[in-house]
Amino acid sequence: MKRCQRCVLPGTYPGIVFNEHGVCNRCLSHEPFHCLGEDALRQVLESCRNRGPWDCLVPMSGGSDSTYVAYRLVRDYGMKVLGYHYDNHFIAPIARGNLARIENLLGIEIVRESSRLDTRLKRLFIRLNLHKSPLHLLFAFCHGCPDAIWGGARRIARQKRIPLVISSESREEDASYKRTLWDRVKPSPREKIRWAARMPANFALRKCLGRLLEWRYPRPKSWKNPEKIEYFAYRKQDRPAMLSVLTREVGWEHPSGNYPWRFDCLIHPVVEQMTFNLLGMTEKDDLFSVLIREGQMDRREALTILESWEGRRKEQLPLIEGVLKRLGLDVAERSRVLRYCEKGIWSGA
Ligand SMILES: [Zn+2]
Repeated sequence: MKRCQRCVLPGTYPGIVFNEHGVCNRCLSHEPFHCLGEDALRQVLESCRNRGPWDCLVPMSGGSDSTYVAYRLVRDYGMKVLGYHYDNHFIAPIARGNLARIENLLGIEIVRESSRLDTRLKRLFIRLNLHKSPLHLLFAFCHGCPDAIWGGARRIARQKRIPLVISSESREEDASYKRTLWDRVKPSPREKIRWAARMPANFALRKCLGRLLEWRYPRPKSWKNPEKIEYFAYRKQDRPAMLSVLTREVGWEHPSGNYPWRFDCLIHPVVEQMTFNLLGMTEKDDLFSVLIREGQMDRREALTILESWEGRRKEQLPLIEGVLKRLGLDVAERSRVLRYCEKGIWSGA
């Protein structure tokens, strides 16, 4: 497979163009990330300090980024942090362990919320999109969670009068190709009506559950009260250093043999395998390419990790089947999704 000579993006990446030296347009147009800096961060944090029992709220998954942000806020800035964890019932046991570890180590209280609403919504969206295409299906698995995470974070911050929500999102994880793909499958109003008529029960139930989810986790239209900032917009994300600090000082764990990223949700491997079959790449190719451009990863190291994952892809299939079962899909539905995970489809997405 043709890959960019500088990063690792493959020729199948949506919208990619190579120059005569085999370097991709993403590398050629890359501007090094700049951060707002330590002073600006301290200024924001000071403005929120001691205004209530907690200074800020951090949504936490048990993965690397949010654990690191909470750790830094407590240790370096002496912030009183309240953690918020949304449990979608597919949280990896290792991620749960990490949450408990940071709770004990730093004395952070973590508010845990959980709901079956998003599982039911996912199931309905999967059933609907199984009739469309594998590319449509790709977007069905993550329904509900972003709303429950951000809507829940905002609701709890308001209830507890916490002035600031600090997110661990970063530009490194932007994965802009997802927006390009979404633009290709986003249903038009006419298409929505057509599918509602074709699957009326599915449509009615989706609407009801969507309303319930919205009621429980109102989608933030603006971030004014509380405010929301991204920690990594202020402090540069240095992934190798971050992972070493987490392992050494927090006892943070991740599944062995895999790059420690996106393992917190057990549904992620389903999306990852389907993405690979559609695009010949996964979200990791995108992340690693950014890390290479930012001088945080060696291209050869990235290729080794990607090839090793590809070589062990099949090992994930039993785990994926278990996840599909827990999502409540029937045998025929499961075998269809598994087929999309197993075989190369190369739809030219
Ligand atoms: Zn490139």
